[in-house]
Amino acid sequence: MKKLSLKAKCLCGNVSFKTKGYHRDVQNCHCVQCIKTHGNYAAYTKVEENDLKFLAKKSLRWFKSSKRAKRGFCSNCGASIFFKVLGTKQICISAGIFNKPTKLKTSIDIFTKGKSDYYKLNNNLPKFSKYPKI
Ligand SMILES: [Zn+2]
Repeated sequence: MKKLSLKAKCLCGNVSFKTKGYHRDVQNCHCVQCIKTHGNYAAYTKVEENDLKFLAKKSLRWFKSSKRAKRGFCSNCGASIFFKVLGTKQICISAGIFNKPTKLKTSIDIFTKGKSDYYKLNNNLPKFSKYPKI
């Protein structure tokens, strides 16, 4: 967890926002849903939804990807931006969407059973087969 103020935008810029407050360390998610959505494993930080302020969101659309979650993406450029567990006050944000330097750091690999076979996991990161309670 790091206290940061960051700016973010999708590839076309039609979705842009600022975040402040505590940002969770980035977690690489290897679940099948993330791989399908991102075309690769996902790298998400997480903030309190109240700490996110939209500057533009006219092309932001949501896809209900399971009973418990939805994913936010840009309908213009196709960027995968958000993962949101329904009924919670936090929102996960794709780390690559932030302007550099992010000062974020990647801490763990999760849902490693879902990973595809074309890449290897980084051996330096702790690995969890499910969502860890940390
Ligand atoms: Zn876009």
